[in-house]
Amino acid sequence: MNQKEIPYKIYLEESEMPKSWYNVRADMKEKPEPLLNPGTHKPVTLAELSGIFCEELAKQELNDTDVYIEIPEEIRKFYKMYRPSPLVRAYCLEEKLQTPAKIYYKFEGNNTSGSHKLNSAIAQAYYAKQQGLKGVTTETGAGQWGTALSMACSYFDLDCKVYMVKVSYEQKPFRREVMRTYGASVTPSPSDTTDVGRQILKEHPGTTGSLGCAISEAVEAAVSTEGYRYVLGSVLNQVLLHQSVIGLETKAALDKYGIEPDVIIGCAGGGSNLGGLISPFMGEKLRGEKDYQFIAVEPASCPSLTRGKFAYDFCDTGRVCPLAKMYTLGSGFIPSANHAGGLRYHGMSGVLSKLYDDGLMEARSVEQTAVFEAATQFARVEGILPAPESSHAIRVAIDEALKCKETGEEKTIVFGLTGTGYFDMVAYEKFNNGEMSDYIPTDEDLQPGFDSLPKM
Ligand SMILES: *Cc1c(COP(=O)(O)O)cnc(C)c1O
Repeated sequence: MNQKEIPYKIYLEESEMPKSWYNVRADMKEKPEPLLNPGTHKPVTLAELSGIFCEELAKQELNDTDVYIEIPEEIRKFYKMYRPSPLVRAYCLEEKLQTPAKIYYKFEGNNTSGSHKLNSAIAQAYYAKQQGLKGVTTETGAGQWGTALSMACSYFDLDCKVYMVKVSYEQKPFRREVMRTYGASVTPSPSDTTDVGRQILKEHPGTTGSLGCAISEAVEAAVSTEGYRYVLGSVLNQVLLHQSVIGLETKAALDKYGIEPDVIIGCAGGGSNLGGLISPFMGEKLRGEKDYQFIAVEPASCPSLTRGKFAYDFCDTGRVCPLAKMYTLGSGFIPSANHAGGLRYHGMSGVLSKLYDDGLMEARSVEQTAVFEAATQFARVEGILPAPESSHAIRVAIDEALKCKETGEEKTIVFGLTGTGYFDMVAYEKFNNGEMSDYIPTDEDLQPGFDSLPKM
């Protein structure tokens, strides 16, 4: 096809939007290891999981066999309010870089939550409502997940209790207010409203909190309140499943113009956007139909794939969640305070960890000043002000495009632009003032995290 005929934005018709999510685990010959009960170290049962999560979501969590899972009509209706998201040809960036590479990005920032997280939030809220629950609890770090969930809960008239990492609660008051505007209650974590919060405050007075700690509080609040369940915005199999809508739309849009990607790139915090973006393409690779290069990009200051251990670990600091086998820095790992770019979770999706361990996906770590350089370069030519998280993918997409400039290869690069960065202006300010520095933990810095791994 004549490249000129490819529009800046490839949209799908509503009728072309996916009607089912794609479950990549069904196509994996080697399945991820099962979640384990943290007390008995035996595989968790549906009954055990259903005490924490909504029953339908617990089923999805354990479903290794169904290739497609239908998206309920009500969720598809909600998706239509902000989807399909555009697949954009980055013509202006290509021109700026003077690269023969063709660059596309799937933009997920076109909703109030500002990220892809709404794709799973609406599904999780829907199943909670179906089950007749009163409400859900969750944690949020930077606030995107809490915002997405509060939007989803208000749509289904569910109560939403958010435990927000204290440092973000204080530094991002506007995120907090967005959540409250949608009717959520927001508690800074660690708090004195839970046993685990009180325990952590006693052991670490003055702590500014962590995601793992906020998860523990949210889980405790869910299991100790009648009619509530806990929901999580990343890492879990069910979240990757819901996020497959990103990859399915991307694939449908590329297919429409007969475009074959060579490289697919995404940032990786807990792995949900990357997993969702690559799933349908990974399925083709797993079935031996096609080959693609997949690259996960993570911060050098929180390098779970590139420097972590592939081991069973706790998902939370309070050690109440099931154990997952994943690439992890240990649930005791706390990222450096100087790290501004999100993606600070200690572990990685079990599905992505397994695919990475099996050599089906690559991973790279990048330093934050290089990430903000890429973010700025992108904003100036493509217009969108990217989230720092998303900018990790931009960094590597630019690096790959510059390699093509050297070699003359006309590779087709697709990356996930997960969201916008309007609430991250403190980090941008630091960068613009030349006050941002890089921090790469030494092996000694990482050791205490590894020491916190459970002895199996
Ligand atoms: C949460 C978030 C991420 C990282 O989460 P994943 O589960 O790894 O996708 C990336 N980008 C944005 C904008 C986010 O809000």
